[in-house]
Amino acid sequence: MQRITPERVDVMPKKPPLVAIVGRPNVGKSTLFNRIIGSRDAIVDDQPGVTRDLKYRPTDWNGKPFEIVDTGGIFGPDDDPFSKAIQNQIERAVQACVLIVFVLDGRDGPTPLDHEIFNLLRRTHKPILCAINKVDNPRIENEVIASFFELGADAFLPVSSTHGLGVGDLLDEIVKRIPDNTAQFEDDPPGIAILGRPNVGKSTLLNSLCGSERAIVSPIGGTTRDPVDEVVEVNGKKYLLIDTAGIRRRSKMNQGLERYALKRNEKALDRCDLALLVVDGVEGLTETDAKVFRLAKDTGKAAMILVNKWDAIHDKTEKSAGEFAKKIREDLPFLHYAPLEFISAMTKQRLHRIFPHVERILSDYQFRASTSSLNQLMEGIIAHNPPPTHHGRSARLYYSTQVSTAPPTFLAFVNDPDAIHFSYERYLMNQLYQHFNLEGVPLRLFFRKREKSKENQ
Ligand code: GDP
Ligand code: GDP
Repeated sequence: MQRITPERVDVMPKKPPLVAIVGRPNVGKSTLFNRIIGSRDAIVDDQPGVTRDLKYRPTDWNGKPFEIVDTGGIFGPDDDPFSKAIQNQIERAVQACVLIVFVLDGRDGPTPLDHEIFNLLRRTHKPILCAINKVDNPRIENEVIASFFELGADAFLPVSSTHGLGVGDLLDEIVKRIPDNTAQFEDDPPGIAILGRPNVGKSTLLNSLCGSERAIVSPIGGTTRDPVDEVVEVNGKKYLLIDTAGIRRRSKMNQGLERYALKRNEKALDRCDLALLVVDGVEGLTETDAKVFRLAKDTGKAAMILVNKWDAIHDKTEKSAGEFAKKIREDLPFLHYAPLEFISAMTKQRLHRIFPHVERILSDYQFRASTSSLNQLMEGIIAHNPPPTHHGRSARLYYSTQVSTAPPTFLAFVNDPDAIHFSYERYLMNQLYQHFNLEGVPLRLFFRKREKSKENQ
């Protein structure tokens, strides 16, 4: 029987605070971004709007970690098929960030578009740092800054991204304005990952839930980009939808596809609180599905099962749905706590049924039992069915405590952890599931030997 000490199941790592670089095309956002992250992996080009994708990179300054996103051209030319999607993505990046770095071109002075963007950014009530870029000659610095006063911003910092001038000062100001970690983390929307093997409909679902056409479904072939997370708001609550599917060069995806897809699933799982596990309703459940879904359980994430492509299933009676659900329950017994819905990501049928579950699951995921009610409950459970002897040893459970939430994790102090038989452990777990009645939430129970000194007391 595997026993893991509670030290190993500590709280999840949190994302660092996000800083968004925003500005009209060609002011030097990518160049500045590259300077800050210290590499040249964003595309820099003289053509406006060439940086099409949002790039997120973790970085730090003076020991303070943060994540930075390059939002590319905010108002691309009208004929740009990506511009609508990009605008949505920028909006979301700005929504998710704690600080905006608004980049201006010192050579042009403030343009009407700068005014327009600045007014939009101000409405977010997020702190804004104005970086006047392309001030390659420090001697004209004051003159250039003065020409931007009409914008009415609080502070302007001159930088030259190509020469690196002023970038250190800008970073000083950035980290100064990033609020304390705790405040930021509490405000982070919970992360939801859409998991499943290729072609079950993850991208379609993500797009339907976002309610916008993202660059990802663009018909233009051979496009690649980094995963982009989307913040959505449902019933006044914000959620971060983590992009699992990403975009891929379809021609290059063949036999390596599944392994690649699994890797992406794992990465997305790392960052989420809740996994939406998508099954292809036409093809039915496969072993790969089960493998992916087990990861969600093993990593302690909350889960919900979605049977997709319901529109394409001919026999859509209550009975057939019931039978389908029954089969899934039989094949995925380890996910007994996960609610299940039939949906069509494509026609959007029944998608409204997802978020009420999501809301409940995320709240249940944070469930905390008081030590006294937990012990009262455990006493009852144990009295009803005391632990049998195992390998000639008799087990004694003393008291229990909840060591963490997300997922709720319990620690039971016992005389001898090896004296608890697996079937008794399962009995205790089943009872906890039944009593707490938490939707979509895996529970964890660990046993620990009670210290000798306490045992003698
Ligand atoms: P973006 O569209 O805002 O991301 O702008 P880019 O980073 O692609 O830069 C647009 C152009 O401005 C490129 O030709 C850069 O080399 C140039 N550029 C960026 N920063 C500076 C700078 O500090 N000084 C000068 N002289 N040119 C710069
Ligand atoms: P992903 O690889 O999991 O991201 O899957 P996609 O979203 O790319 O979808 C794979 C295929 O299934 C596409 O041809 C979609 O049009 C199709 N598809 C996705 N959702 C549905 C659905 O609800 N009903 C039907 N009939 N087809 C769907």
